[in-house]
Amino acid sequence: MTIHDIPILAEGSISELEQALRGRLVRATDPDYDAARAIWNGAHDRYPALIVRATGAADVIRALEFARSEELSVAVRGGGHSIPGHSSVDGGLVIDLSPMQGIQVDPQRRIARAQPGVTWSSFDHETQAFGLATTGGLISSTGIAGLTLGGGIGWLMRKHGLAADNLRAADVVTAEGHVVRASAGENPELLWGLRGGGGNFGVVTSFEFQLHPVGPMVTAGAVFYPGDRAGDVLRAHRDWAATAPDELTTLVNLLTGPPAPLLPEAWHGRPLVAVIGMHVGSPDAAERDLQPLREIATPVADLFGPMPYVAMQSLVDPLWGPGAHSYMKAGYLRGLDDQAIDALVAQYASVTSPKTEIHIQHMGGAVARVAPDATAVGERSAPYILNVVASTFTRDGYDEAVDWAQATHAAVAPALTGSTYVNFLSSEGDERVRAAYGPAYDRLVALKDEYDPTNMFSLNQNVPPSGA
Ligand SMILES: Cc1cc2nc3c(=O)[nH]c(=O)nc-3n(C[C@H](O)[C@H](O)[C@H](O)COP(=O)(O)OP(=O)(O)OC[C@H]3O[C@@H](n4cnc5c(N)ncnc54)[C@H](O)[C@@H]3O)c2cc1C
Repeated sequence: MTIHDIPILAEGSISELEQALRGRLVRATDPDYDAARAIWNGAHDRYPALIVRATGAADVIRALEFARSEELSVAVRGGGHSIPGHSSVDGGLVIDLSPMQGIQVDPQRRIARAQPGVTWSSFDHETQAFGLATTGGLISSTGIAGLTLGGGIGWLMRKHGLAADNLRAADVVTAEGHVVRASAGENPELLWGLRGGGGNFGVVTSFEFQLHPVGPMVTAGAVFYPGDRAGDVLRAHRDWAATAPDELTTLVNLLTGPPAPLLPEAWHGRPLVAVIGMHVGSPDAAERDLQPLREIATPVADLFGPMPYVAMQSLVDPLWGPGAHSYMKAGYLRGLDDQAIDALVAQYASVTSPKTEIHIQHMGGAVARVAPDATAVGERSAPYILNVVASTFTRDGYDEAVDWAQATHAAVAPALTGSTYVNFLSSEGDERVRAAYGPAYDRLVALKDEYDPTNMFSLNQNVPPSGA
């Protein structure tokens, strides 16, 4: 679609909407339309008819009313990091929540309330002022909204659970424009669904999180080894992982050395394998627990050490800025057997883009101790999740990178559980969404029937209502 294909709407009804909003309405003719429609993933170039920059629940209600009466598709945007580009829509209405930036911390009760435009960078900034934090994303520009609603993997998860496990309550504008609260005491089934069920049930206008004492200093960073040691590093990590403490969350990363000052220049552009992680225990315990991961081979660079929690939360942000063309192919691993390790190593030898990476994220700990039916998260028992992140700087080479990611995923198929993580899904079809939700799927359909029977919120990893 191009800008010329945007459906023409009656000027009268657009003006009415504009006057009813406290926030701004952005139209295709506005000078900042291109900036307002852009999302993180450059692979998706969409042309919405209108963008409502919402300042509160009232604007969300108005926007939904308008979309219903004009029969427009609705995209909901928090931090804009959706990999399949669900936070924009050709010819429809975007509800952009990024102006909603409020954060309130109650240090006594260890609770934070945050609005849906907040990113982890702002959230951590406010909560760390009190030495508190909750599990957030690995890149600080990701939105708290989409990440939490889909589950939420991060450096604190083995100690404190997923982001969704720390979601205590939420305010939601439903498809009908009603405001409902979801908490343990009010609409608990809705809270269950928001903990992993994504944006299927309404627009969340406020999130309430449980916080934990963290930092402000932690032991974190990464150790980089030559790429030809990738098999040794994966095997060593596997053998070590069985006894890893909850305080330590790690990720093994197969990558091409970025031109970053933290790496010796000789390794820029060459294959590397890194163990990245954060330890939230005492410095002595961190030193002891990290040691086996730092002596697998002779490191290219060992950057583990004490650092502020907020520094680790944004450590690799510069490598993951907006605009690159990106695609993820992910799946939970039932284990890392030698065959899977050999397949990953062999595949990375033929990687097509220097921006493409393989992430093998260690799960377990507190994530695995939450009862399977306590939240809508579909899988908690797998020891690892594999995420093949295909990425190119521009459109050039993107299709080839996607093909390579799919081939890599296929190469380790025998080790995959068949389930995957909702927030790492690309546009992969209904069956993959079902597989991601697993045993939670039917309960999510029942909740969808109750809160969104016409599937107004369909631009997500969609759980259609039973009547669809
Ligand atoms: C660079 C990068 C790093 C990432 N790192 C991690 C990571 O460390 N851990 C992890 O778990 N995931 C990670 N992800 C995946 C990420 O969790 C998802 O892409 C997530 O959906 C992004 O949330 P967002 O608010 O930024 O995105 P958006 O694109 O704004 O939202 C994504 C979807 O969430 C829903 N949504 C957003 N806001 C609301 C709301 N207020 N109410 C209802 N529905 C809403 C909508 O369906 C929307 O389409 C990463 C993604 C990227 C691109």
